[in-house]
Amino acid sequence: MKRTSGLLFVISAPSGAGKTSLCRAITDSLGNLTHSISYATRQPRPGEIDGRDYYFVTQERFQEMIKAGDFAEWAEVHANLYGTSRRVLDDIIGRGIDVILDIDTQGARQIKTKYPDAIFIFIMPPSLEILEERLRNRKSDREEEIKRRLQRAHGEIRDYGMYGYIVINRDFDRALSELRSIVTAERCRTRLADAAWIESMM
Ligand code: 5GP
Repeated sequence: MKRTSGLLFVISAPSGAGKTSLCRAITDSLGNLTHSISYATRQPRPGEIDGRDYYFVTQERFQEMIKAGDFAEWAEVHANLYGTSRRVLDDIIGRGIDVILDIDTQGARQIKTKYPDAIFIFIMPPSLEILEERLRNRKSDREEEIKRRLQRAHGEIRDYGMYGYIVINRDFDRALSELRSIVTAERCRTRLADAAWIESMM
């Protein structure tokens, strides 16, 4: 049964918790679920592709988009600007497709006021030590960047109470399975059911 409006899942986590890989794996493994591509002013990392990982734009272009009201949410993260296009998001939801936003806690707060039905999931690393180890293994960030991301992790974790679900990424497959369960359960909400069809059986 095709819904007329897609569900909006917001997933946040401290950098290095494995959120990007989990988001990619869940959209690959479940149907009718996609991931919204954000706009970002940072430089692409090795292997990242414009239009697949992010739409990489200049600070000037990003500021123009803010002025034009193009963003459903936007935030400054690690001295770079990131934002979700309102048009892209509303278009996906309007087609009845469920969508995941992989955004920081500042952006999540903005989505909460604009899209009250959105579902909020926070991914936790098993420990701060493991978070640091994962950031170092990534080898794409300089030392000061790693320090900045670790510092920020504390602030992000402080916002966990805003989220309806917590998934601990100790083991990737287990975390993925928990995420799939959350999406599946949310799709079974009574408010999403075809009331006319159910009532026809009464
Ligand atoms: P990274 O530079 O490592 O790809 O992302 C840094 C942080 O920016 C991550 O926490 C990521 O979730 C967040 N981020 C990515 N896209 C967006 C966005 O469109 N809006 C907001 N608010 N945060 C974003």
